[in-house]
Amino acid sequence: LVYLNTDIQNKLKNEDRIEDKLKTHSLRLTDHRKNILNFFIKNPFALSQSFFEEKLSGSCDRITIYRTLRSFLKTGIIHKVLDDSGNIKYALCNENCLPEHHHEHVHFKCERCQRTICLQDVAIPELNLPEGFDGNEISLLVTGICERCS
Ligand SMILES: [Zn+2]
Ligand SMILES: [Zn+2]
Ligand SMILES: [Zn+2]
Repeated sequence: LVYLNTDIQNKLKNEDRIEDKLKTHSLRLTDHRKNILNFFIKNPFALSQSFFEEKLSGSCDRITIYRTLRSFLKTGIIHKVLDDSGNIKYALCNENCLPEHHHEHVHFKCERCQRTICLQDVAIPELNLPEGFDGNEISLLVTGICERCS
């Protein structure tokens, strides 16, 4: 009988989750993909390319990070998050983001901890655009103090 403590069990669950996600989205299981996806699962806020360049310096080059993020974006694993940092950030999609992205939720940027968080349950209100304007994407950023910092 093998005894598994909770830490190891959680780690295994996490690995299962990562492999499942990559398989569901028809991506080959590579170490870089697993590694980068793990960061998204562990951090419930938006992450930028430079975040990964810093975390993975020495083990993964810029181009690989860029390509990995693009493949996640294209297959509905992550979505783009625009905040006021000037960097494009990315966050995990809901499980229902296949085959197309459909994001109408608000993003919240905390002025204290600088995290940008998906508020999945807060919908962006509908807008009436003037005639002749055909909207494609919409994003709404709220800045303030998050629940952790308040
Ligand atoms: Zn999505
Ligand atoms: Zn905060
Ligand atoms: Zn989001």
